[in-house]
Amino acid sequence: MKRLCVIGDPIGHSKSPLIQNAMIKAFGLDYEYTAVRVPGDQTAGWLARARAEGWAGFNATMPHKENLVPLMDELDPLAARCGAVNTVALREGRAFGYNTDAPGFLNALADLGVDPAGKAVLVLGSGGAAKAVSAALAGAGARVTVANRTRSKAEAVCRMDPDHIRPAGFATEELCKLSERADLLVNCTSLGMAGTDHDYEDLSFLDRLPRGAAVCDAIYAPPETTFLGRARELGHPTMNGLGMLVGQAIFALEHFVGSSIDRETAKKAALEVLKEYGL
Ligand code: NAP
Repeated sequence: MKRLCVIGDPIGHSKSPLIQNAMIKAFGLDYEYTAVRVPGDQTAGWLARARAEGWAGFNATMPHKENLVPLMDELDPLAARCGAVNTVALREGRAFGYNTDAPGFLNALADLGVDPAGKAVLVLGSGGAAKAVSAALAGAGARVTVANRTRSKAEAVCRMDPDHIRPAGFATEELCKLSERADLLVNCTSLGMAGTDHDYEDLSFLDRLPRGAAVCDAIYAPPETTFLGRARELGHPTMNGLGMLVGQAIFALEHFVGSSIDRETAKKAALEVLKEYGL
């Protein structure tokens, strides 16, 4: 039995064991996937342990994604551009680092019927999710504006691809102006996430979106944030973060096993188990 896991701190909330074990079972693979709490200052120590104990690979969530970048023997170009690794495959002791959040988001977007090429996209937030989503969208030919409360962090995201990503502030007036020109709007802040007590106080910028503009949220718990609910009421096509979550897991499993898998079967298995848990 080959061992896989997700590392993070905290880690109890992670849905990765559920999703990965459902997919592993669906394909009859010889892997088991667990969750391991690894404090943020022990990323390198964990990697050494995983190598010594012969783990096949692991996913990483907060606060390890950025720490892993300089520790990889080989770094996928997209992970290098995002400055974040969420998937590590260990092959003969060598660490291969990938970012599957970005293709996971694009895959989900395709399911919504949205091709980002040539589109004007407004991304809200500048954390790990925003970086992956912005890199994915810019790589797919979109013109991306990243709006964030802390503007310096938005500027840092833009440095990934300054020709295609530009920074903006988060004041409602600015969001209103930017929304008027957006074909696609993506919330990558944690505003409205279950377990937090902060949410958008003013969603009037949604009223300025052009008709038919798609609206996405990286958040999947709750399944519909107030942000996403308001966009749906206004008639926009909407999508929560579940597709991205499942997509990143499918691409991660492909890296772990070293070959492509039937993505529809994988998606079905993942969505079924998540449904059992109310997602
Ligand atoms: P993060 O690195 O902590 O970033 C949080 C972002 O939210 C920052 O841009 C922060 O702005 C902004 N923010 C927080 N409180 C705010 C407030 N009161 N007003 C305005 N902005 C605020 O988090 P992350 O890892 O990017 O995750 C963001 C969300 O995406 C989370 O809800 C997470 O669950 C979700 N996510 C989903 C997936 C998926 O697969 N669907 C993957 C990753 C993350 P400042 O920079 O100003 O602090």
